[in-house]
Amino acid sequence: MPTNPLYLLRVNARELLRQPGTDRSITVELAPGDLGIDDARITGDIAVDLVATSNIDGIVVSGEVAMPWRAPCRRCLTDVRGTAGVEVDELYQDDVSDEDAYAIEGDQIDLAPAVREYVLLELPDDPLCRDDCAGICPVCGIDRNTASCECDTSVRDERWAALDDLRLDDS
Ligand SMILES: [Zn+2]
Ligand SMILES: [Zn+2]
Repeated sequence: MPTNPLYLLRVNARELLRQPGTDRSITVELAPGDLGIDDARITGDIAVDLVATSNIDGIVVSGEVAMPWRAPCRRCLTDVRGTAGVEVDELYQDDVSDEDAYAIEGDQIDLAPAVREYVLLELPDDPLCRDDCAGICPVCGIDRNTASCECDTSVRDERWAALDDLRLDDS
């Protein structure tokens, strides 16, 4: 019988709260689709490695969520790949007294919404293939990391100079 993998992200809160200091580990690999995430940047399973520990205030969930990703370099458009890992530190409370805490609904903590949020926040928006990526030539489109060209890129500068002249005329 196939189990819904999201079930693995549920933690029995009562069991943990009965005795402060009790912990439970949640280690699971999820496909993005399991979390309702449809994002082409994610190239593999999302690794969830968390520990839920109760204290007198609630349940602290900490650990890491990590996933492999792929996206084009914002300067040269080559494929950039990496693994994004984010530290998780969340508090779940019956009566929310901490403004950053999540409420415990019923007897269970459902970690899925928090994991989904971490994944979406951590995906890179505009990565660079390397810090000093030279980008592509605006004239011929050549990748200046691997080749050089003789293009005259001062055309753009002249246009800016013309704009500066206009501004001067205005004043
Ligand atoms: Zn690049
Ligand atoms: Zn060029």
